[in-house]
Amino acid sequence: MTFNELKISEPLLRAITEMGFEKPMPVQEAVIPLQLESSQDLVALAQTGTGKTAAYGLPLLQRLTPTAQPQAIVLSPTRELCLQIADDLEAFAKYLPEVRILPVYGGTDFMPQLRALQQGVDIIVATPGRLIDLMQRGAAVLKNVHTVILDEADEMLSMGFSESIDQILEGVPAEHTTLLFSATMSREIEKIAQNYLHDARQIVVGSRNEGAENVNHIYYMVHARDKYLALKRVVDYYPKIYAIIFCRTRLETQEIADNLIRDGYNADALHGDLSQQQRDLTMQRFRQHRIQLLVATDVAARGLDVDDLTHVINYGMPEDIENYTHRSGRTGRAGKKGTSICIVHSRERGRIRDVERTIKKDFVRGTLPSPKEICSKQLWKVIDDIERVEVDEEEIADFLPEVRRKLEWLDKDDLLRRVISREFSRFLRYYANAPEIEDVNPQDKTAKTKSKKTSNSGRRAVGDHSPEEGYTRIFITLGKVDGFYAREIIGLVNNRCPGPKIEMGRIDLRPTFSFFEVPEEEAERVLKGLKGFSFKGRRVGVDIAEEVGTAERSDEGWRKGNRSGSGKGSRSGSGKGSRSGSKKGSKKGSKSGSKKWE
Ligand code: AMP
Repeated sequence: MTFNELKISEPLLRAITEMGFEKPMPVQEAVIPLQLESSQDLVALAQTGTGKTAAYGLPLLQRLTPTAQPQAIVLSPTRELCLQIADDLEAFAKYLPEVRILPVYGGTDFMPQLRALQQGVDIIVATPGRLIDLMQRGAAVLKNVHTVILDEADEMLSMGFSESIDQILEGVPAEHTTLLFSATMSREIEKIAQNYLHDARQIVVGSRNEGAENVNHIYYMVHARDKYLALKRVVDYYPKIYAIIFCRTRLETQEIADNLIRDGYNADALHGDLSQQQRDLTMQRFRQHRIQLLVATDVAARGLDVDDLTHVINYGMPEDIENYTHRSGRTGRAGKKGTSICIVHSRERGRIRDVERTIKKDFVRGTLPSPKEICSKQLWKVIDDIERVEVDEEEIADFLPEVRRKLEWLDKDDLLRRVISREFSRFLRYYANAPEIEDVNPQDKTAKTKSKKTSNSGRRAVGDHSPEEGYTRIFITLGKVDGFYAREIIGLVNNRCPGPKIEMGRIDLRPTFSFFEVPEEEAERVLKGLKGFSFKGRRVGVDIAEEVGTAERSDEGWRKGNRSGSGKGSRSGSGKGSRSGSKKGSKKGSKSGSKKWE
């Protein structure tokens, strides 16, 4: 089948040929004839990446008689998708210069959208909330609308747009065609179809919930406390990784991104707590490969269209199987192989089974790469890069003699040793003392005992949140709900502590409190500097965090000491002498009459 055979008109054909479309995708073969021949209502179960925009966009553009009055509305859940759809439609309409397409979405100034509407448009691509605002202001007049397209309808419903969709559909003339595209068919989608669609044809592209053919699914099962360490191993094992790491909540997303950035990875966060401007910038940088690891929530990653991800990483399994399908479908696109990795703890075993049953594909249980394997992989990359680097003789000619002179005392082997140590030291150093990660077998009862033993042995593990060597862990009653993220904490500490800049270590953010690490010798200066600090009229508590025994280990693995804001006693034992942050020191501190914060 060709687009010609589908009777796509010449100007559209020319545009899509230029875009590289050679033959129609299955959803296009199914939808285009239906829409060109009759304008029948339609429910299409098709996911992003299946070519659905062209499936509804091409016949819509072909049937349009430009009048500068809105004739069609495309509703989309997010601003990103809205812009992407409008861009695609513009590209298809390249040789239909009289057709006017306008994206309207929330979170930006009304005025430019109002003005554009006044100048006349044929197709409005909108997020539901903003379209209703524009309707209520009389700016969007829908009396000539003959086609309504609901794109990613399931996503719009899950984002709470159900009432807005009702309102919009009630505001268009009764005689209109509705096309509903959804990745899944839920009861609510069925309800919308029943209420607003007439004699709708239903088409399914690929089977619902089917995993993409060329995606491998791997899971690593570890203790919950080791999930972050396992993530680092996976990422380190693939030096050229370009991945989205999916987390369940905004807080977790920010936390994992903060940790990765702190640990030297090229990562950033994408979630709904960030401003639209920040999200746009992050997505742009990720698309341009200036960010290697994007830590994101399911919703925020919608509309981010990247075809060349090497991996999707599930930091824990998502609540819904549909979300897993969406996530894993982001890799293995455009004929490439993809890998979806799940880092899970033993209680998520059942969820893996559920997904396996639904997508009818087996997951492979992976064994985390060993430090040695990771180091070899990373070293290989360095050597490979050196081999492949393009040498521009002319460019370096002026500098070479001087460099040769400076390094003439080194032979080739010395030079190699230095290059490797320089390029590679982060991994060598980290993995020389890397905490062990226990592979968990949920059926194996000994695994639990073994893990307890590991913790009791007092081995330092970042996942247990022990401070780094030479650092003291400090607890503060400011957290993310107060708007305190890594940057704010670093700023606060340095603003309140005059003198040389304090090099901060690990920062662990929680909703209402946080932990951060400072060099041991600076702990006293920091406590002093923060003493008496108030935030929004509330006295902020600060103290040295105290490690508690495994048996009574709290979620954080640490208890909080007493507040500098209220307590006095423990401070005397928390200075350098007490080896603040060391178990001995903090125990001592707590004995000296400190109140526990539990
Ligand atoms: P969509 O599902 O509409 O987001 O489309 C996914 C991607 O496939 C987009 O990058 C489209 O430009 C591309 N695409 C759509 N139809 C075709 C086609 N017939 N041939 C090649 N690429 C296509």
